[in-house]
Amino acid sequence: MKLSYLLVGAALLASCSAEHKSEMDVFIDDLMSKMTLEEKIGQLNLPAAQGAIVTGETRGEENVVARQIKEGLAGGIFNMKGVDNIRDTQRMAVEESRLGIPLLFGMDVIHGYETIFPLPLGMACTWDMDDVERSARIAAIESTADGLNWTFSPMVDICRDPRWGRMAEGGGEDPYLGSEIAKAMVRGYQNGNLADSTTMMACVKHFALYGGAEAGRDYNTVDMSHQNMYNYYFGPYKAAVEAGAGSVMSSFNVVDGVPATGNRWLLTDVLRDQWDFDGFVVTDYGAITEMTPHGLGDLQQVSAMALKAGVDMDMMSDGFINTLKRSLEEGKVTEADIDKACRRILEAKYRLGLFDDPYRYCDSQRAASQIYTPEHRKAARDIAAKSFVLLKNDGGTLPLKKQGTIALIGPMADTRSNIYGVWAGTADASKYKSLRESMEECIGDKAVLLYSKGCNFCYDEVLEANHAGWLPVRDGRGDAELHAEAIALAKKADVIIYAGNELANASGEASSRSDLSLPDTQLDLLKELKRLGKPIVMLNFTGRSTVMTWENENIPAIMNVWFGGSEAGDAICDVVFGEKSPSGKLVTSIPKNMGQIPVYYNHLPTGRPQEKWFSKFRSAYQDVDNDPLYPFGYGLSYTTFEYADLRLDTDEITEDGQINVSVKVTNTGNHDADEIVQMYISDPVASISRPVKELKGFKRISLKAGESKTVDFTITSDQLKFYNGDIDYACEPGEFIVMVGPNSRDVMSERFTLK
Ligand code: BGC
Repeated sequence: MKLSYLLVGAALLASCSAEHKSEMDVFIDDLMSKMTLEEKIGQLNLPAAQGAIVTGETRGEENVVARQIKEGLAGGIFNMKGVDNIRDTQRMAVEESRLGIPLLFGMDVIHGYETIFPLPLGMACTWDMDDVERSARIAAIESTADGLNWTFSPMVDICRDPRWGRMAEGGGEDPYLGSEIAKAMVRGYQNGNLADSTTMMACVKHFALYGGAEAGRDYNTVDMSHQNMYNYYFGPYKAAVEAGAGSVMSSFNVVDGVPATGNRWLLTDVLRDQWDFDGFVVTDYGAITEMTPHGLGDLQQVSAMALKAGVDMDMMSDGFINTLKRSLEEGKVTEADIDKACRRILEAKYRLGLFDDPYRYCDSQRAASQIYTPEHRKAARDIAAKSFVLLKNDGGTLPLKKQGTIALIGPMADTRSNIYGVWAGTADASKYKSLRESMEECIGDKAVLLYSKGCNFCYDEVLEANHAGWLPVRDGRGDAELHAEAIALAKKADVIIYAGNELANASGEASSRSDLSLPDTQLDLLKELKRLGKPIVMLNFTGRSTVMTWENENIPAIMNVWFGGSEAGDAICDVVFGEKSPSGKLVTSIPKNMGQIPVYYNHLPTGRPQEKWFSKFRSAYQDVDNDPLYPFGYGLSYTTFEYADLRLDTDEITEDGQINVSVKVTNTGNHDADEIVQMYISDPVASISRPVKELKGFKRISLKAGESKTVDFTITSDQLKFYNGDIDYACEPGEFIVMVGPNSRDVMSERFTLK
C-alpha cells in the first residue's frame, strides 16, 4: 500500500500547533506539495463506473476510468455497486497511482439502498422528522456496508408545478417543511461524524432552484425574483448546509440567466460567503458541457467559468481534466483556483477518514449482514404506512374487512419492479412483494382475492413506453380484452380495489407530463367499474400531485400511496385492512385541473382576491375556482379529530420574547391514530407583500380513541422574519395572525402583535 503521505503527514503534525494550522491542513499542505498540476486537476474529476453497475468493470487495462484512476486523474467514481468491486477499485487508486490518494465512491442513494423507503415526496408526507432521519440513517448503514461513502442526496428542490416529474424526489412545496426534512436527512446520512464508517457524506441538490423550471419541463429555464429565491426556494438548501452537508450539487438550470454551474453569485457569494459552506461543490451530470448549448461558450470556456464560479468537481463533462491546464497557461484560471478546489476534495476525503484507512467502507462482513435486514425492513414498512394520504373515505369504505370476495384490479396491482419507485438503482426487486403477493399473504384464507390487471397504463403503446422507461409492464392483450376480464371478475366481488395511475418511471428525472389526470384506459376502466355499483377503493400510485376531479366525485375511497419502497405491498395491506390508520398529509396542493397549475398554499395575496367564484374583475378563472381539490397539509384518518381552545399565552411579543400557542386536539372517532397538527402564520401588513399564510410549526401526535391532548407551539421572532426588499432577513413590528389546524385550509386563528 502506497501510503507514504501518511508518514510524512504524521511527521508534520508536531509543527502544526505552532503554525496554528489544523492537522488536516498540515496533512493536505504536505500532500498537495507533492502533487503535479495534472494530479491536482485529476482530483476534480468525477467519472461514472462506465455503463451500468457491473462487477469488475473498471479492472481491464483498456478501461478509460481504470486508466484515469491509475494516473491519478479521478477524484472519485460514482455508480459502482458492490463492496468487492469498490475495494478492488480503491486498491487500484491506493496501490497503483503515484500518490495513492483514495477515491470517493458516490451513488444516488435517494430513498434507501436495498431496503427502499417511500419516494421522498411520500416520505415527506409522514411529516415525521425522526422517520426521515431514520430512513437516511438506514440508507447510510446499508450503503457504507456495501462500500459507498457519498450519496447524491438529499434533493431539496421546492416544487410548485407537478408537471415536473422530479417533484417525486423532493419534499414538496413548502420551504419550512422542506428545511426540516433537509436537516433530518443530513443528520441521518452523516450522523454528526463523517469519520464513522457507517456514515456517508451528503450532497445537497440541485443548487439551485431546479424545481422552478418553466412549465414543469425538465431542464427548462428558471426565472424568478431574488425575493422568491430567498423567501421560498433557498431555505432547504441553506438548512442542509447549516446541518453540515459535506457537498452541494450545482444544478442544470439557469439562475438570473447564468447556468447555476457557472454562476459565481450563486456558488460563491450566496453559498460560501452568505452561508459559510465549507464543503465542496460537484456539478450535476455533465452540467459543465451543457453550458455550451446554454450559450456560454465552448468546453474550455465553460470549464474555466465553472471553476471560477466555485465548482470543485466536474461530474461527467471531462471539462476540467481536458481543458483546465490550457486555461491556466492562457491565464483564464489561476493555480490558486485549482488548488482551492483540489484542497476541498482532499478535505472531504480526510473528513471521511479515507487517508487513515482507504478501505474503511469495504468490510465484506458488514455487506453480508447489514443490508436488507428484518429490522430495516420493518422500519421501511412502518414508515411507508405513515406516508399514505387518505384523500376521501365516504361512509367509512376503508378499512376493509378480510371477508367475502375482493377484486384487486389495475396495472400497479401485480408489479414488483414498479412498486418501490424510481431512483433506486440498488434495489433488488426480486426480493420485494407486489401488492397482489402481499395481499394474498395478508388475507390468507379469510377472504377470496381475485386479480386482474384490468388495463395497460394507457391505450397508446408508444406513450406507455415513454412512461414505463426501463420497467415495462405492458400486456400483450389489448385493453378491450383486459377491461372485459376485469369487469367479469369485479362482478363476482363485494368490493373493488383499484391499484393504478402512474408507473414508477412516469415520475422522476426527465419525466415531465403535460396531462396529470388518470391515463385514458385507466379512467375508462374505472368508469366501467363504477357502473357495477360496488364499493371501490382507489390506491393512487404517483410521484406527484395528480388531477383527480372525476375520481373525487365518483370513487368513494381514494388513498395516495405514492411509491412506498420495498415494503410497500405489506404497508398498503396494513392500512387497507385497518391494522394501522392512515396519517400522512399532503406536502403539495392537488389541483382541480391542469390550468390551475401552479397552485400552492403560500401564495401572495392579490389586489383583487377571489371572494366567491365567479365574479368579474377578480383574480379568478371563469371555468374553475382558485382552490385546489385537496389543500396542502390535507389528509384523512380512520378516526376524526376535533380542534378546540386555540390559546396564546400573550398577545404581544418583543423581538427577544416568545409566545406559547396551545390547542386541544381530541380523537373523536373509534380508531387510535396519529394526527399532524399544523401551525401557520401570516403577516398582513409589511414592507413587501407577504403570503396569505406560511407553515411555521407542526407536530405529529398519537391519540387513542376518545383521548385529548394539548399541543403547544412556541413562536419567537425567528418565525416572523423574512427577506425584505433589500434581501435583509428581519422581522417587522405589527400584527400577525396565527392559525392552527389539520391542514392549510381548515384553521382556527388568533392575532398577536410584535412590538
Ligand atoms: C441528476 C442528479 C444525479 C446525477 C447522478 C443527474 O442526471 O440530475 O440528480 O445525482 O444525475 O446520477
